[in-house]
Formats: sequence, structure tokens, C-alpha cells
Amino acid sequence: MNQTSYVGRFAPSPSGPLHMGSLVTALGSFLQAKVNNGKWLLRIDDIDPPRIQAGAIENIQATLIAHGLLWDSDAIFQSQNKLNYDTILSQLHSQNLLYPCECTRGQIKAKGEFYTGTCRDKAQVKPPFSLRIKNQFEISQINDRRLGTLKVNNQATQEDFIVKRKDGLYAYHLASVADDIQMGITEIVRGEDLITATACQWALFKTLGKPVPGCLHLPLVTFSDGRKFSKQNHAPSLDLDRPAKNLTEALAYLNLTLPKALQSNQQVDKILAWATQAWADSLS
Ligand SMILES: [Zn+2]
Repeated sequence: MNQTSYVGRFAPSPSGPLHMGSLVTALGSFLQAKVNNGKWLLRIDDIDPPRIQAGAIENIQATLIAHGLLWDSDAIFQSQNKLNYDTILSQLHSQNLLYPCECTRGQIKAKGEFYTGTCRDKAQVKPPFSLRIKNQFEISQINDRRLGTLKVNNQATQEDFIVKRKDGLYAYHLASVADDIQMGITEIVRGEDLITATACQWALFKTLGKPVPGCLHLPLVTFSDGRKFSKQNHAPSLDLDRPAKNLTEALAYLNLTLPKALQSNQQVDKILAWATQAWADSLS
């Protein structure tokens, strides 16, 4: 089949090895790109140097390869895209949509859950300051490819969120959206914990006058006590000696049960071929 204009991505941060939660996201985004005859890109979100773990980038790539999740084109590194972020910041600045904010986390929290624009009209703020966007949009729902219409907390999405941090680092929403635009991403597949983040990012796409990509949020992998699998929560890293078993488990999180005959088969490419068809059927 001919390749379509679908472009998807997997964007891990190299703060440690991949765990089952990240494999589910990688697999779900991979299958969605395959079902759409599109491209699946790998972006390493490495703009936060203190969080980067030595060897993690190589480990992530080796893990994906071991599971047959081969990305198209060369991997993209956010650390090499700073010019792209500065261009977007300049655009926002020239539209008069940025302002410096000196508030501390504690000051903001004392006023409530969300930032209320305290510094928007201040004539002067003291360094160190972050840069916030004058958010023009209040997104109250998004259309998810898997879950349908999702209501989101519009207090969260109308917040003037940070685009450049006090420590000089580019903020997650800014870097993610800037790169998604540059990479021509047509649909973002990520975990359900990022639904609100998706809505905030939709506001940024709109502010920049860019088409908003589609979205699909995947089930989260949790510990038995409900905590999300994450590096911070010490989720165990994947055992690279058993990729077929890992894929079988990841598919189960996507509500796909691998047939018995394939479970004993250790070939990841056969498992992925079955999974692509099964994923297509599950979404139709
Ligand atoms: Zn402020």
C-alpha cells in the first residue's frame, strides 16, 4: 500500500530505560502509524539536561529495535532543535503574547490550583523570571480517536502556561508543539495521563495559526495500588531477553489478546503483523 500523509511519533525522555508503560505508548503509536500506512518517527525529548541519564538514549533505541519497533528516518533530538524553539518564542513575542513571570510555585499555589495571570500587567518583574504565554484559548473538549469526545478542565487549559522556564530551559508544551509542527505530525498518540496537556498544546497550535493534529490517548499501566508506571515511581525496566513476552503484555494493555499460537512464537515481526490488523479492527 502507498504511504499516506499520516505522521506519528514516539517521544520518550532519556531519563532512564523504557518500562512497560512506555512500551505500551511506543507500541500503540507504532500500530496507529502502520494502520494508517504512515510514518512513525522517534524523537528523543532531551531538553532537560539534569534529567538525562547516561546511556539512556542508546538503551531506548536498543529496546525499540529488540521489540521490532523500527522508526522511520533518523531519530530527532530536541537538544538540537533550540533554534526552532527560539523561532516560535520570537513569533509569540512579536505578537505580544509573552510576558515575564516572577512568581514562585509557592506563591501560585497559595492562590489556587492554576496560575491566574498575576504578572500579566506588571510593568516590571525581577529576575529570575519565566516566560508565560497570554493564552487566547479555553479548550473545554477534545476529540480522541479511541475515546471519542473528552471533556477537559477548561481552567487548566486557559491558564497562561510557561513556555520558557526560570532556569532558562524550554518548557515541555513549547518544545513538544514546536517539534510536532516541524515534524509534520498529523496525530499524537500518548498516555491518558496527558489528556490535559494535549488540550493546552491545542491552544498553542491555534495561537501559532497551525492546524491541530488528531489525538489518541492510550490506557495507562499502573501498579496494583493504582500509581502510574513511571521512572519516578521506580517502574521496572523491560527485560530485553523476552521481547515477545513484553509485546504480549503490552498488547493486553491495549485490550488485544495475542492468539496462543503466536504467544509461543518468539518472532516479534509476526506478533506485530498480527497486532497491526487487530488494532485496525479494534478501532473500526
Ligand atoms: Zn507571575
